[in-house]
Amino acid sequence: MRTVVFIVGLGYTGSTVLDMALGNNKESFSLGEIANLPTEININNPCVCGEFIRNCHFWLGVCNAIREKHNIDFIRNPDSFPLKPAEIRNRNNILRKLKILSNVYGISKNEPWLKNTKILYDAIAEMSNAKVLIDSSKDIRRALMLRSVLKGYQIKFIHLIRDCRGTMRACKNNVGKVRFPKSNEDAIITRPFIPTEQAIKMWIHDNLKITVYLSLFAPYNSWRVVKYEDYCDTPDTVFSSLAEWLDLSDYKDMINFSSIVHHNVSGSRSRFNHSKILPSDKRWKNDLTEEDFNIFKKKAIFLNRLYGYKD
Ligand SMILES: [Zn+2]
Repeated sequence: MRTVVFIVGLGYTGSTVLDMALGNNKESFSLGEIANLPTEININNPCVCGEFIRNCHFWLGVCNAIREKHNIDFIRNPDSFPLKPAEIRNRNNILRKLKILSNVYGISKNEPWLKNTKILYDAIAEMSNAKVLIDSSKDIRRALMLRSVLKGYQIKFIHLIRDCRGTMRACKNNVGKVRFPKSNEDAIITRPFIPTEQAIKMWIHDNLKITVYLSLFAPYNSWRVVKYEDYCDTPDTVFSSLAEWLDLSDYKDMINFSSIVHHNVSGSRSRFNHSKILPSDKRWKNDLTEEDFNIFKKKAIFLNRLYGYKD
């Protein structure tokens, strides 16, 4: 039986690197933030293999297989191939919430993005010959909804957690360099600047939501909490345990994860910059201001401790 592993959690937690590491195995495949594939094709961003996505032999092969079987050409028409639910514009709308619950419980299976994702997973698994697919799209709601169409798959979840202070620093540090494949110079990329108060609120809300959703809706042995700092600083312990849980051999290949050509899409710039697990980023210790630490102590220290982080 094939397995899909959903890495769920916030942005800036090291999900892209964890995804690539787990996918660096002959029996697994790193999808990246696959829910963003239509956008990536529209922009024609580079694939991690070095080709632009529309020219990448892997994605062209997957597209051909789907076109032959389902008469869908997602490279030509990416917008007609949605892979995630529509955004919830009004969070307080009770009908919307009921719809989400019906999806989480697997009642509604006919939304195009659900069927499209199943079609895509099947084609990727066949093309790559992988028995384990790693999806780091991170959205817990999407992951739970997908269970309704993934009956032939075993489903596992990794709740990836990072020290709140590391997330706060990453949210403020919104400019970075990236060396795209086949390029001789660094490009500067920016992402949204998230102020401290908002970053903390998001960290608390999203982590609590994931903890509650997984506790309520996922069998206890189908999910694990993995800490970013643990997989970076004690990779042998974490990856040997994850490999055993996922029934994958050769966990050492996960620590140096460039022995396989990857085709993961979207996610952090680490997908172009990193080829092995590095020690955890502790720059928050110097970069956060006294005010940042005061807000952290007031709002997030309790949950940070509950997740096992020392002050
Ligand atoms: Zn590629």
